[in-house]
Amino acid sequence: MNATPLVEVQNLRKHYPIGGGLFARARAWVRAVDGVTFTIQAGETLGLVGESGCGKTTLGRLMLRLIEPTAGDVRFEGRSLLGLRPRELRGLRRRMQIIFQDPYGSLNPRMRVGNIVGEGLAIHRLGSRAERRDRVHELLELVGLPPAAARRYPHEFSGGQRQRVGIARALAVEPRFVVADEAVSALDVSIQAQIINLLQELRERLGLTMLFIAHDLRVVEHVSDRVAIMYLVHIVEIGPRDEIYRNPRHPYTRALLSAVPVPDPRRAARRTPLGGDVPSPVNPPPGCAFHPRCPAAEAVCRSVQPSLETGRRDHAVACHVFPAEKQ
Ligand code: SF4
Repeated sequence: MNATPLVEVQNLRKHYPIGGGLFARARAWVRAVDGVTFTIQAGETLGLVGESGCGKTTLGRLMLRLIEPTAGDVRFEGRSLLGLRPRELRGLRRRMQIIFQDPYGSLNPRMRVGNIVGEGLAIHRLGSRAERRDRVHELLELVGLPPAAARRYPHEFSGGQRQRVGIARALAVEPRFVVADEAVSALDVSIQAQIINLLQELRERLGLTMLFIAHDLRVVEHVSDRVAIMYLVHIVEIGPRDEIYRNPRHPYTRALLSAVPVPDPRRAARRTPLGGDVPSPVNPPPGCAFHPRCPAAEAVCRSVQPSLETGRRDHAVACHVFPAEKQ
């Protein structure tokens, strides 16, 4: 693995004010992301998993600076994104793209597919008109659509085909880093598998680095090199994929894995289903935010927030009772 990560997230925070007004102070703050730190190496895919409302989508957008963080830093190719002027940021945007969750809402229904896919090329003034048209056809073929699809409108396609258009649009400007934000969540299971396979193939063929966001551990398993688990605005466990699936430490990760259907009856017998709902980020529980739902919670969990500590095999866990195994 390379020594310098392609993407570095350092102590990233995003807090939103609630109440107050233009001249009045906020009455409270909602934490959407709080003190998140990790890296992604070039060519690596990091799967980011958690229930809805845990902050994973906000984190993905912060990493592309589509929204401004409250504190912390994001570095891309060694440069801080936060220090960039708008022009420099625009230049860098080419290298960092996003695939959205909703293949219905994310494509402009009044634009032909060829213009949607070629929009980034036109914005960045890449190539002549004819070259851009050829590139659009090439991209459509790359994602498994016929070049003739360029003349059609989004409503003429199925959900899976639209997501292929969304992928072609993201890849048009030859990014190095792609955030796939719940890119398969809105699709049927059989179509999900096709899109995951496509992303995996493209990633290998084009040498992409990816953050693959999902709410289901099953979805990220085959596409990820490492997996991070997020619970209520914090990363609670992160490590190499096989470590997370074979040796999960955090009770929340174990509960998420319990929800994944498995053919192995021994794994099925060890299920620990997850009860209750994710608490409100406006008023999170003190100590470990997972303690109201955790079957292993002890007294310390109710008052002291565990920090994410790295142990053997690059496996980091934030838990008092099941810490990372010592190096
Ligand atoms: Fe459960 Fe305590 Fe670990 Fe939190 S710190 S996950 S409450 S055991």
